[in-house]
Amino acid sequence: MKTYQHYIDGQYTDPINGQWMDSIDPYTGEVWAKVPRGCAQDVDKAVAAASRALKEGPWSKMSPTDRGKLMLKLADLVTREAPRLAEIEVKDNGKLLAEMRGQLNYHPEWWRYFGGLADKVEGRVMPIDKPDMFAFSNSEPVGVVGAITAWNSPLLFIAWKCAPALAAGCTVVIKPSEFASVSTLEYAALVREAGFPDGVFNVVTGLGHEVGSAIVDHPKVAKITFTGSDATGARIYAQAAAKMKRVSLELGGKSPNIVFDDCDIEQAAAGVVSGIFAATGQTCIAGSRLLVQKSIQEKFTEQLVKIGASARIGNPMLSDTNIGPITTAAQYRKVLDYMDIAKNEGARCVLGGGKAERADLPGGQFVQPTIFVDVTPQMRIAREEVFGPVLSIMGFDDEAHAVQMANDTIYGLAAGVWTQDMGRALRMSKALEAGTVWVNTYRAVSYMMPFGGMKHSGIGRESGIDAIKEFQETKSTWISYAKGAPANPFVMR
Ligand code: NAD
Repeated sequence: MKTYQHYIDGQYTDPINGQWMDSIDPYTGEVWAKVPRGCAQDVDKAVAAASRALKEGPWSKMSPTDRGKLMLKLADLVTREAPRLAEIEVKDNGKLLAEMRGQLNYHPEWWRYFGGLADKVEGRVMPIDKPDMFAFSNSEPVGVVGAITAWNSPLLFIAWKCAPALAAGCTVVIKPSEFASVSTLEYAALVREAGFPDGVFNVVTGLGHEVGSAIVDHPKVAKITFTGSDATGARIYAQAAAKMKRVSLELGGKSPNIVFDDCDIEQAAAGVVSGIFAATGQTCIAGSRLLVQKSIQEKFTEQLVKIGASARIGNPMLSDTNIGPITTAAQYRKVLDYMDIAKNEGARCVLGGGKAERADLPGGQFVQPTIFVDVTPQMRIAREEVFGPVLSIMGFDDEAHAVQMANDTIYGLAAGVWTQDMGRALRMSKALEAGTVWVNTYRAVSYMMPFGGMKHSGIGRESGIDAIKEFQETKSTWISYAKGAPANPFVMR
């Protein structure tokens, strides 16, 4: 079993307090690695290194073109190591190897996109309305960025956060989830191999209220970019506000998948299944509320139950597995609790509804893919994020009813719409309160497409050309070339 170290200032280094914590393989339930349980002093060391690299070090003196070239090099190294990194992710978080391989193979595109963008961010010269004045604005890196990530896709979040941050010229201190830290620590070796200067990319592992909180509090961290639950996001937002820091928050969801009776039923059924059972439902964009037009509700539900019942639960490393384990013991209990809550509130379970127990399943953290009908919008199962393979089905009458039900949530991350009517698709896209609307598809992401949430699902956007702005400050410079007598000093110029 390997014992890992933090990655600070270009070196792997032991935690100052000499403490480590276990990393558990969710499939076997066994400890498979040890990672540092860091503390505020480790954070201080990492932030000092990141601040030096930003203010004094070669990073700040490097041209944006050269920074971009390093990012392209990193993209190639991730491509080379994608199969190994994907396996580490599976050991860390129990998601399917097929899913993590797909993510890792695609991951380098974020580095290529933002690496290419690094030297294309231009300032502006204003045709300023003052005599004898030259005025321009340009963008500067916001400063040291603290990146705090969730356990469900640790390396994808690194690409989403760090590629635009480094393209903007920032340096980063990353804290991965305590449940899935190994892949981020392994990733740091590739950053070093690519030739990034020391201090540009740092990883400190540990608990949220210890390491995460210390990053948010640190006076030299200018911006927090966070992916995780809305409860933690709100805490970080308040803590950052007290220090006047910038934040981007990628939080949870209760996304509706809306199926109209004019849809291609087979496509829609596959899309709804991918929205809720893929990744064992442990994804922020899980389409956990199915809103289906009442005219097809019964038939559509039957179809879903058939597909769901055939999903194979098992070893996430095997290519024919559809549903892997729940990542953490706490999350496993939470998913089972929600199943009980739904039953107690009067929802009717038509698929699954409990633990998946089989002699050949080690570790114990498996749940059945589950579908509830007779769900009403007030039930907790219809309102709260479960983060597991649990679908709530509710019927609607018409478009207006669908919009009203879809928007009846504190969240606003994503929504799916299944219809052949493109006018309706556009009307729905406009009416839905969600950062992403997918029509006749679901769970599609790209480095060039902005992603993020409305309402309690977050603040800011990742990916897409504007993501770099989340890591930049605008500076305005005024230069007077007036000659002769000075202007009246007591009036505004
Ligand atoms: P979480 O909020 O428990 O933890 C996320 C990270 O925050 C972890 O690294 C944790 O250690 C850290 N943390 C916890 N308390 C902290 C504190 N007081 N100060 C600073 N950091 C702290 O979330 P999770 O259980 O790891 O992830 C699941 C959640 O993430 C779900 O709600 C899911 O919807 C959300 N998520 C959102 C997106 C998105 O892009 N919108 C993507 C994936 C997951």
